[in-house]
Amino acid sequence: MSENCLFCKIVRGEIPSTRVAESETMLAFRDVNPQAPVHVLVIPKKHVASLAVADDASMLSDLLSFAASVARSEEIEKPGYRVVANTGPDGGQTVDHLHLHVLGGRHMTWPPG
Ligand code: 5GP
Ligand code: ZN
Repeated sequence: MSENCLFCKIVRGEIPSTRVAESETMLAFRDVNPQAPVHVLVIPKKHVASLAVADDASMLSDLLSFAASVARSEEIEKPGYRVVANTGPDGGQTVDHLHLHVLGGRHMTWPPG
Protein backbone atom coordinates (compact mmCIF):
# COMPACT_ATOMS: atom_id res chain seq x y z
CA MET A 1 0.00 0.00 0.00
CA SER A 2 1.27 3.45 -0.85
CA GLU A 3 -0.18 6.39 1.06
CA ASN A 4 -0.40 8.93 -1.76
CA CYS A 5 -0.86 6.63 -4.74
CA LEU A 6 -4.03 7.41 -6.73
CA PHE A 7 -4.90 3.78 -7.45
CA CYS A 8 -4.17 2.71 -3.85
CA LYS A 9 -6.70 5.39 -2.85
CA ILE A 10 -9.19 3.85 -5.30
CA VAL A 11 -8.52 0.40 -3.77
CA ARG A 12 -9.19 1.84 -0.28
CA GLY A 13 -12.34 3.60 -1.51
CA GLU A 14 -10.96 7.05 -0.70
CA ILE A 15 -11.48 8.06 -4.32
CA PRO A 16 -14.71 6.89 -5.95
CA SER A 17 -14.59 4.62 -8.98
CA THR A 18 -16.97 2.49 -10.99
CA ARG A 19 -15.93 -1.03 -10.07
CA VAL A 20 -16.70 -3.78 -12.54
CA ALA A 21 -14.99 -6.75 -10.88
CA GLU A 22 -13.04 -7.51 -7.75
CA SER A 23 -11.24 -10.41 -6.12
CA GLU A 24 -9.23 -10.68 -2.93
CA THR A 25 -6.13 -9.45 -4.77
CA MET A 26 -7.37 -7.70 -7.94
CA LEU A 27 -9.63 -4.77 -8.81
CA ALA A 28 -11.14 -3.70 -12.13
CA PHE A 29 -12.77 -0.29 -12.59
CA ARG A 30 -13.76 1.96 -15.49
CA ASP A 31 -11.21 4.49 -16.75
CA VAL A 32 -12.38 8.03 -15.96
CA ASN A 33 -11.31 9.15 -19.48
CA PRO A 34 -12.34 6.23 -21.70
CA GLN A 35 -10.55 5.79 -25.03
CA ALA A 36 -13.01 3.15 -26.29
CA PRO A 37 -16.61 2.10 -25.55
CA VAL A 38 -15.13 -0.41 -23.06
CA HIS A 39 -12.10 0.89 -21.15
CA VAL A 40 -11.42 -0.87 -17.88
CA LEU A 41 -8.30 -0.66 -15.70
CA VAL A 42 -7.22 -3.86 -13.99
CA ILE A 43 -4.85 -3.54 -11.04
CA PRO A 44 -3.38 -5.59 -8.24
CA LYS A 45 -4.69 -4.29 -4.90
CA LYS A 46 -1.15 -4.45 -3.60
CA HIS A 47 0.97 -1.47 -4.65
CA VAL A 48 3.49 -2.27 -7.41
CA ALA A 49 4.83 0.76 -9.27
CA SER A 50 5.00 -0.69 -12.78
CA LEU A 51 5.56 -3.79 -14.88
CA ALA A 52 9.28 -2.95 -14.85
CA VAL A 53 9.56 -3.62 -11.12
CA ALA A 54 6.97 -6.40 -10.84
CA ASP A 55 8.79 -9.49 -9.58
CA ASP A 56 5.87 -11.71 -8.58
CA ALA A 57 5.17 -14.01 -11.54
CA SER A 58 2.12 -15.51 -9.85
CA MET A 59 0.60 -12.04 -9.32
CA LEU A 60 1.28 -11.13 -12.97
CA SER A 61 -0.37 -14.33 -14.11
CA ASP A 62 -3.43 -13.59 -11.95
CA LEU A 63 -3.52 -10.00 -13.24
CA LEU A 64 -3.56 -11.12 -16.88
CA SER A 65 -6.16 -13.81 -16.19
CA PHE A 66 -8.28 -11.26 -14.37
CA ALA A 67 -8.06 -8.92 -17.39
CA ALA A 68 -9.24 -11.75 -19.65
CA SER A 69 -12.17 -12.49 -17.33
CA VAL A 70 -13.14 -8.80 -17.37
CA ALA A 71 -13.08 -8.83 -21.18
CA ARG A 72 -15.42 -11.83 -21.05
CA SER A 73 -17.86 -10.19 -18.64
CA GLU A 74 -17.76 -6.95 -20.67
CA GLU A 75 -18.74 -9.07 -23.73
CA ILE A 76 -15.78 -8.03 -25.85
CA GLU A 77 -14.13 -11.44 -25.92
CA LYS A 78 -15.71 -12.53 -29.18
CA PRO A 79 -15.20 -9.33 -31.21
CA GLY A 80 -11.75 -8.93 -29.64
CA TYR A 81 -10.01 -6.45 -27.47
CA ARG A 82 -6.63 -5.01 -26.53
CA VAL A 83 -4.69 -5.24 -23.26
CA VAL A 84 -2.06 -2.54 -22.70
CA ALA A 85 0.49 -1.95 -19.92
CA ASN A 86 2.01 1.49 -20.43
CA THR A 87 5.35 1.31 -18.65
CA GLY A 88 7.63 4.22 -17.77
CA PRO A 89 7.89 7.66 -19.41
CA ASP A 90 8.30 6.50 -23.02
CA GLY A 91 5.54 3.95 -22.47
CA GLY A 92 3.17 6.76 -21.53
CA GLN A 93 2.61 5.64 -17.94
CA THR A 94 0.99 8.45 -15.94
CA VAL A 95 -0.06 6.59 -12.78
CA ASP A 96 2.72 4.77 -10.96
CA HIS A 97 0.66 1.76 -9.87
CA LEU A 98 0.77 -1.24 -12.21
CA HIS A 99 -2.37 -1.40 -14.34
CA LEU A 100 -3.61 -3.11 -17.47
CA HIS A 101 -5.91 -1.22 -19.80
CA VAL A 102 -8.62 -3.47 -21.25
CA LEU A 103 -9.96 -1.73 -24.35
CA GLY A 104 -12.71 -2.86 -26.68
CA GLY A 105 -16.04 -2.18 -28.30
CA ARG A 106 -14.43 -0.69 -31.39
CA HIS A 107 -11.77 -1.70 -33.89
CA MET A 108 -8.26 -0.93 -32.63
CA THR A 109 -5.66 0.49 -34.98
CA TRP A 110 -1.97 -0.37 -35.12
CA PRO A 111 0.62 0.99 -34.51
CA PRO A 112 -0.42 2.92 -31.40
CA GLY A 113 0.63 6.56 -31.18
P1 5GP B 1 -1.57 5.34 -17.84
O1 5GP B 1 -1.53 6.65 -18.58
O2 5GP B 1 -0.71 5.39 -16.59
O3 5GP B 1 -1.29 4.13 -18.68
O4 5GP B 1 -3.06 5.13 -17.38
C1 5GP B 1 -3.64 5.80 -16.33
C2 5GP B 1 -5.11 5.86 -16.59
O5 5GP B 1 -5.75 6.20 -15.39
C3 5GP B 1 -5.53 6.89 -17.64
O6 5GP B 1 -6.17 6.23 -18.72
C4 5GP B 1 -6.47 7.81 -16.88
O7 5GP B 1 -7.58 8.21 -17.65
C5 5GP B 1 -6.89 6.97 -15.70
N1 5GP B 1 -7.21 7.73 -14.51
C6 5GP B 1 -6.50 8.76 -13.99
N2 5GP B 1 -7.08 9.19 -12.86
C7 5GP B 1 -8.18 8.40 -12.66
C8 5GP B 1 -9.19 8.37 -11.64
O8 5GP B 1 -9.19 9.15 -10.68
N3 5GP B 1 -10.17 7.44 -11.77
C9 5GP B 1 -10.19 6.56 -12.83
N4 5GP B 1 -11.21 5.67 -12.85
N5 5GP B 1 -9.25 6.57 -13.79
C10 5GP B 1 -8.25 7.47 -13.71
ZN1 ZN C 1 -0.59 2.20 -5.50
